[in-house]
Amino acid sequence: MDVISLQLETALLDDCTVNEIYAICKGKHTFPDFLRADLWLCCLVNNKTDVLSRLFDEIYDLENQKQLRQDCQNFIDTLGNEEVDKISVLSDLESILTFYCKHRNLKYDSNNGWIETLMPILSLKLKRTDTYNIFEAIRDTYIPKDNMKHGNVYHVFRLLILYHDPELCAVLDTCKITPEMYSMNWFQTLFASTCQLSVVLLIWDIYFQQSDPFLVFFLSLIMLVNRRDEIIAMRKEDKATIIKFLNNMPCELEADDVIDFCSLAQYYSSRTPSSFKSEMLNQLFGTQTNDACETNIVSQALCLPVSVYELIENSSESKEGAVRFFLVDCRPVDQYNAGHLATAFHLDANLMLTEPASFQTAVQGLLRAQKSAIDANASGEHLCFLGSGRIEEDSITHMIVAFFLQKSMQYVSILSGGFAAIHDYFGDGMFDCLEDHDFTRCLVCQGNGAVNRIMSRNPATSSSMQQQQQRQQAPPQHKQFDLFSKLSSVMKTKTSDVKKSLFDYIANPAHSSSGQQKPEEITEKHVSMSEKNGKRYRNLAPVFGFDEEEPSSGIGGVDTTDYTEDEAESNKDRINIQDYIRSIPDLVQSFKCQEVQINGAMFDSYLILTKKRIEVIRELDSGMGKISIKRPLSNIVKITAKKRFRDLITFKYGAHDENGENLIITDMDRFLIPNSQEATKKFNLIIEYIRNSIVKKIARNNDRV
Ligand SMILES: [Zn+2]
Repeated sequence: MDVISLQLETALLDDCTVNEIYAICKGKHTFPDFLRADLWLCCLVNNKTDVLSRLFDEIYDLENQKQLRQDCQNFIDTLGNEEVDKISVLSDLESILTFYCKHRNLKYDSNNGWIETLMPILSLKLKRTDTYNIFEAIRDTYIPKDNMKHGNVYHVFRLLILYHDPELCAVLDTCKITPEMYSMNWFQTLFASTCQLSVVLLIWDIYFQQSDPFLVFFLSLIMLVNRRDEIIAMRKEDKATIIKFLNNMPCELEADDVIDFCSLAQYYSSRTPSSFKSEMLNQLFGTQTNDACETNIVSQALCLPVSVYELIENSSESKEGAVRFFLVDCRPVDQYNAGHLATAFHLDANLMLTEPASFQTAVQGLLRAQKSAIDANASGEHLCFLGSGRIEEDSITHMIVAFFLQKSMQYVSILSGGFAAIHDYFGDGMFDCLEDHDFTRCLVCQGNGAVNRIMSRNPATSSSMQQQQQRQQAPPQHKQFDLFSKLSSVMKTKTSDVKKSLFDYIANPAHSSSGQQKPEEITEKHVSMSEKNGKRYRNLAPVFGFDEEEPSSGIGGVDTTDYTEDEAESNKDRINIQDYIRSIPDLVQSFKCQEVQINGAMFDSYLILTKKRIEVIRELDSGMGKISIKRPLSNIVKITAKKRFRDLITFKYGAHDENGENLIITDMDRFLIPNSQEATKKFNLIIEYIRNSIVKKIARNNDRV
């Protein structure tokens, strides 16, 4: 006897649980024949006293008893057993199924898979009550309810095919072949009706020790994925031929394949977001009833849903082996800027309708960003799209998801509940967890009274927040966003205008409409304030420039507008990039990078660090480029890198307010720089140097006073 068998036998003697059996077999070993019956009972039938209470009254008076008897007889006739066996098996079959109908108040139906499901159990030659208990447990635990036509089970299965093999899914969709047409008896009988008996026993060994009711979905998925090329090659054949081919695939499975087959299914299961399981468990499994399918909650789903819990828990580094997501935030830019997860890539949904060309660029940028995030082990290949959770915008989010699915993009999911769900998940902690969260502009805060809740718990911050809120109260809090008017208004304004007004908003959130105050004025006020008290500068970034050295640029930055494509392509101002870089006298370093615009558009660029400023040259063609950004270093108040996404760094420009406490951000640039840590380090050193020289200068001035 081998070691596994010995361990299993000992465990059984000790009245073990299914967990202990799994600990011995680990999903890699099937059960030895002589222990199978005991092990199945141990895995499936917990309540051992219940075994005695099963009473078979042997009264055969079901409404469709004749049909049941005939079906049992027909099935037995197909088996090649000895005559004696046939009679005993026939009697067991009818007795058990009749009792099952009565006990559970269910109606027998030909082709519901019950007879096929019973056969592997009957082959173990157990007492009738044990056979019954195993049958009932399998039905309750592992056979999806609602497995007749158009049930949730087939919608979920299709979503899983779509998730892992969108091309195959599209081929089947085009052939108008839905999963119930070929996989119904897989799900109804856990492959008992299509695989050879010897194979079924082994699959079930693995099944019962795993105790994962969703394994059948992944076993079925593997059936398809293994033969995908053949299936795709059959696309032109007639529908019935394809369905027959699909349905018969499990027949070819042999005993030697079972372990590989099940391991592969487990691997696919681990590469699939799991929150759909908890959301669907009650719909799909549990006590069987006659009732037709409850609400088809997933029939409308475009792709696999992911819960906010899974999204956020999986992003924590401690959770090894979890599906890791690359989050794509599809909300309009104003909503994104009023609060978002630090790890989210912004892809403005409106762009798809208003500027298809920019949208394509943005998508390329997204894929590059994802690739570099994966390379840096900062994110996964699973794309999770996020809308606002508001009906108004989510139809566009769905269009974006459909766009990616059409491109046969693997691993596409959508966040259930959208941004509102993230917001709710963090609750009072959202001020720490969301980046740039501004409750005055956050639609969720404005919509659900969360602000009031938070203020009542944080008396320290409540007064200033109340003031802010009162200022906001002039316009109605609940703006009715009409999707079409919103879109058309976006269509009228060019992205650059949107961006400009956005920055006005950022610069002066309380008075966005009257945001005429220029950064220079803020800075000047600040300078005069600080001259009274030089030490205030100790922890602050430099906020004024080197007037004597940069007369033309002034304090508010040089030319901060982004060039539009047309301007960038004009021949005027074309420079040879390398020649230009070589000609800079105080060059510190240049970095190849991508400038990431607020709408997600990206441009191949060079970021140039000199002792006094940063410049960005956007690449045009054949070594030529054009300066797209030029700013004095002194305007930088913050350089931030995303925690999980270190290559994306953001330069924030602005000034401190009159009290020198709050930072007012007037503008920002974002870059994707490979090895940006090194770049930020250099920048920080330079800025530190500037800061020190400023502090010294102030100290000197103060001394003179
Ligand atoms: Zn909010």
